Amino acid sequence: MLKSTQGEIDKEAQKGLKSTAIEQAFFLACQQKAETIQAVELIDQELIFSHARLVDKKLFSDNICQLIIEPVSPLYYHAGQFINLKNAQGIVRSYSIASIPSKQQFIELHVYKQANGVMSNWLFKEFTIGDKIDFQGPIGECFYTSENKNNPMILIGTGTGAAPLIGIVRDAIKSGHQGSILFYHGARNFSGLYLHDILSKLDKEHSNFTYRPSISRDEDSISNLTENDSPIKIEFGRCNEIAIKEIQPTSETTLYLCGNPDMVNKTRKKAFLAGIASKNIYIDAFEYKDLRKNDR
Ligand SMILES: Cc1cc2nc3c(=O)[nH]c(=O)nc-3n(C[C@H](O)[C@H](O)[C@H](O)COP(=O)(O)OP(=O)(O)OC[C@H]3O[C@@H](n4cnc5c(N)ncnc54)[C@H](O)[C@@H]3O)c2cc1C
Repeated sequence: MLKSTQGEIDKEAQKGLKSTAIEQAFFLACQQKAETIQAVELIDQELIFSHARLVDKKLFSDNICQLIIEPVSPLYYHAGQFINLKNAQGIVRSYSIASIPSKQQFIELHVYKQANGVMSNWLFKEFTIGDKIDFQGPIGECFYTSENKNNPMILIGTGTGAAPLIGIVRDAIKSGHQGSILFYHGARNFSGLYLHDILSKLDKEHSNFTYRPSISRDEDSISNLTENDSPIKIEFGRCNEIAIKEIQPTSETTLYLCGNPDMVNKTRKKAFLAGIASKNIYIDAFEYKDLRKNDR
């Protein structure tokens, strides 16, 4: 976002911005024709951050927690988009939205505690209920649109890649999606399948929703599970490889891919070769590399 100090701003370049941003002549540079703007200046970063308060925090597993934050002013978002959180030390990291918009205005995030990770450890240990946090967003185009309610949907995610995906599933179910919804969630071990109960319940309740869990490393963590522990069979293997072998996409199939960047990029290519149109592939790769070089 930039600020125009001279010239005319295209309507397109202010689409989706808050009225306060429009009043200050802020615009999205990537949407603006260069000819009509004569002078611009950078925006003070503080002005593009909003504030939220942590209202609830719980552990899904030893390494994954759920944060529920409440923005101070209403946030218009799609489940599956992400926000950039900024902590008191000025560290900025992206986290995907697992909730769907509701009257309560709460936003649900899932955070994986990265070994030596600056922000994720801070969110786990320091960030406490009642604390305020700055955020930017929502950002991203990996979300559900209800135009094609009858089309099959496939979702593949590793680790907390399940956060945007469960948001997308919740949105699709709430919107009355009629096509099949096939969700592959992969983790290293059973505790990494942190949405197992929630997704198993959705599988039971919705005839068009299928949950396909898998683990790729610690086979022992599933070998003693009884039918009571997990009525849904957990496969051993990588979720993307299992999915690519099984899926029979049509020209209408939509694919959502989220989580580990390597998995996302490889699977995107394989899915395209398997027949899914690239315009129907939505991805959110949880890139870590750039974040270590620059705060975002
Ligand atoms: C669009 C987007 C959405 C995201 N959504 C989520 C989400 O919903 N939930 C979530 O938990 N995370 C999400 N992430 C990742 C998140 O933004 C942070 O990168 C993550 O929490 C790590 O930040 P950190 O400060 O704790 O670690 P950092 O301090 O940035 O990294 C330090 C440590 O991370 C590890 N690390 C760094 N790079 C890699 C790598 N490429 N592969 C593996 N390990 C690496 C290393 O151990 C390194 O020492 C998302 C990222 C993007 C880009």
